[in-house]
Amino acid sequence: MDFSEARPAVGVGRRIYIETYGCQMNVVDSETVMAIMAAEGFGRAEGVGDADVVLLNTCSIREGAEQRIWHRLDELAALKKRRRSGMVLGIIGCMAERLAEQIVAERPVVDVVAGPDSYRSLPMLVGEAVAGARGVNVELSKEETYAEISPVRLDASGVSAFVAIMRGCNNFCSYCVVPYTRGRERSRDPETILREVRELFDAGYREVTLLGQNVNSYNYELPVHVNFPELMRRVAAISPQLRVRFATSHPKDISDELLEVIAASPNICRAIHLPAQSGSSRVLAAMNRKYTREWYLERIAAIRRLVPDCAISTDIIAGFCGETPEDHAETLSLMREVGYEFAFMFKYSEREGTPAAREMADDVPEEVKTARLTEIIALQNELSLESNRRDVGREFEILVEGFSKRSQEKVFGRTSQNKVVVIPARSAHAAADHRPGDYVRVRITDCSSATLQGEQIV
Ligand code: SAM
Ligand code: SF4
Repeated sequence: MDFSEARPAVGVGRRIYIETYGCQMNVVDSETVMAIMAAEGFGRAEGVGDADVVLLNTCSIREGAEQRIWHRLDELAALKKRRRSGMVLGIIGCMAERLAEQIVAERPVVDVVAGPDSYRSLPMLVGEAVAGARGVNVELSKEETYAEISPVRLDASGVSAFVAIMRGCNNFCSYCVVPYTRGRERSRDPETILREVRELFDAGYREVTLLGQNVNSYNYELPVHVNFPELMRRVAAISPQLRVRFATSHPKDISDELLEVIAASPNICRAIHLPAQSGSSRVLAAMNRKYTREWYLERIAAIRRLVPDCAISTDIIAGFCGETPEDHAETLSLMREVGYEFAFMFKYSEREGTPAAREMADDVPEEVKTARLTEIIALQNELSLESNRRDVGREFEILVEGFSKRSQEKVFGRTSQNKVVVIPARSAHAAADHRPGDYVRVRITDCSSATLQGEQIV
């Protein structure tokens, strides 16, 4: 006799809340975890206050990210003590993977520890915690892609969703902890991706962002070979009313084939995030980025040639090991030469266990890192403002996402180039307010370095 049939689902009568830190991949992971837990009967809590299970989905990318989470953990530990009824507290994600032993040894308040590839075991681990034991699973997998699980969307907009198409990373950039916390690269079955995107479109979503640490190296082998350009072609064919984005691309994999697919598909957005990290070929070699400044610039030229209206954004690390003033100047000159629309900019943060931490000295003094980062940010603000000024007077189609934070009289949406445009919620041409999910043609009337202002045109 099968007794599992009679077992009550562990989640029945319990509510769960997930607090998410870090990258977009973690956002999808939290949604995947929610789907796994919902299948076991868990309800969704509004916040920590009404949750029986609180999970922190964590990030290890920089020291600062981990510090914030340790701090938050202490706050939650105090809350757990104050509560009379039990609360299960779990750490999941990259920090759980990287620091499982330390968490188990130093934080008895933590009941569950689960790495990015062990989310299917979370109901069991929480069940163990409810029974008074600790649930720990940080095994990495070569196959897990959570392919058939449709994430429970946690954002309220209902317009734009992230879809994970691959997991892990094989690039081993010398500064980066991701290959150790998220394991080897693996691509998800394209049929399950297409099904998920179709379901999102049918549910009213009008934009998907295909996600991976190195999304353009997507490669599904069997039974039929599907590479990233082919996957993009198929996703874009679902509907011309669906916008398709992707992040993050590694420069080494940004092929002409991909650029040609983008050029041929008006609903693939004209925005490529192509992290350079540094403008110095010497530093890029030390970072193990597998390209030079010249090679990167040749790819930028290819984007300009094949997709002329494409916005380009980047990630930059200031003060990597051995970075000289000349190297830093090369980063600034690369930024000017490309004219990035947008950038994420960071100070180098040494991560234990990475090749850079093992083999190179973190020798740029903190105040020099800060000064270089400040210069990089100031330059990017200038470049963003210049780029936005060029848009004033131009016409774009935006996809409305919601009301502006500052005023209920205004709504905001994004251009294909991923720039935020704020417009009046109702224009003279329209009988009703613009709603999330509407496409609106606008002319840009004004700008700051962060936002464009516009008005509807017919
Ligand atoms: N896979 C993507 C890529 O290669 O561009 C992004 C990975 S990571 C989540 C996002 C960014 O964090 C990286 O592009 C890099 O700029 C930054 N980063 C990663 N490790 C870092 C470190 N040790 N210190 C500072 N920034 C780091
Ligand atoms: Fe980290 Fe490099 Fe992989 Fe990006 S490509 S996740 S920076 S190792």
